[in-house]
Amino acid sequence: MNGKLFGSVEGGGTKFVCAVIDEQNRILAETRVPTTTPGLTLGACLDYFKQKELLLGKLSALGIACFGPLDARRGSLDYGQILATPKAGWAYTDVVGFFELALGIPVGFDTDVNGAALAEALWGAGKGLSDLVYFTIGTGIGGGALVNREVLHGLMHPEMGHVRLPRISGDEGFAGVCPFHGDCFEGLASGPAMAARWGQPAETLERGHPAWELEAGYIALALQGVICTLAPQRIILGGGVMSADFLFPMIWQKTLGYLNGYIRSSVILDGIESYIVVPGLGRQSGILGGKALGELADS
Ligand code: ZN
Repeated sequence: MNGKLFGSVEGGGTKFVCAVIDEQNRILAETRVPTTTPGLTLGACLDYFKQKELLLGKLSALGIACFGPLDARRGSLDYGQILATPKAGWAYTDVVGFFELALGIPVGFDTDVNGAALAEALWGAGKGLSDLVYFTIGTGIGGGALVNREVLHGLMHPEMGHVRLPRISGDEGFAGVCPFHGDCFEGLASGPAMAARWGQPAETLERGHPAWELEAGYIALALQGVICTLAPQRIILGGGVMSADFLFPMIWQKTLGYLNGYIRSSVILDGIESYIVVPGLGRQSGILGGKALGELADS
C-alpha cells in the first residue's frame, strides 16, 4: 500500500461511522457502530481501527468529527472532550485521550459541521474558497465555518443551530422543541420540530405542504443572519431535511427577500443558486471531514 492512511470517525447521536481513507480520499473500509455508551461505542471503534491496521497498514493519524458540544481548542484543559450534553453518559468523555493512548497516533478533533466545512473547502463545493459556512439541517441543526481558511473557534465553537429567529407570521402557536431554548433555529426547523408541528415525520410531508414554505422561511432567516455576521463566500446546506431538494429555490428567493438588497454583492444578487448550494461531497462530507481533521493533526 502506497501513501498514508487516515482513520476517520463521524460521531453522531445515533451512530458512529468509522472509515479508513487513503490520501486520494478513497474509502478503503467503513463500518457503523451504534451510539450507546461511550465505553461500548468508542471501544468498538477502536477495535475496528486496530483490526484494519493489521489488514491495511498503520494509520498516520485519526480525525474525529463529532456531535457536540465539545472542546476542540488545543491547549485547553478540556481539549478533546465532549462537554455537557443531554446525551446520557457522554458528558466529559475524553474522546481524543482515549484514541491517542490506544493507537499512539495524532488525533484531530472538532465538531461534525466544522469537519464538513473543512472537507467541503478542501475537496467539495467550497474548493478554493477562504470563507464558507456549512449547515446540517436534520435531526439537529448545526453550522460550521471556515474563516480566512481556518476552522472557526472562539470561546468554544459556533452553535449556529441555537440562534433565536423572529417568528414567521402564523407560526406563533408552536412552542419549539429545543430543550434549552424552545424556539431557536433547531427548535423551529429541525426534522423533529417539523414532526412535532405537523404531527407526522418530516419525510412524509408532501411537496406542496405549507410545512416546506415555513421551513424555507426559517432557514432563510438563519442564512440572512449568517451572511450579515460572517460574510461567507458560499453557504453549503446538508443534512436529512435538505434531501428535499425543492427547498433550495424557496430558500434562494426568501434569503434574497430578507436581505432586501442591502448586501450589494453580485455573487449573491446575480448567482444565489451557486451561492447557497448542496454539499459537493454529497453524503461523504461528514466522513471526509474526519479525514480532513486527521490530516490537520498529522501536519
Ligand atoms: Zn436551542
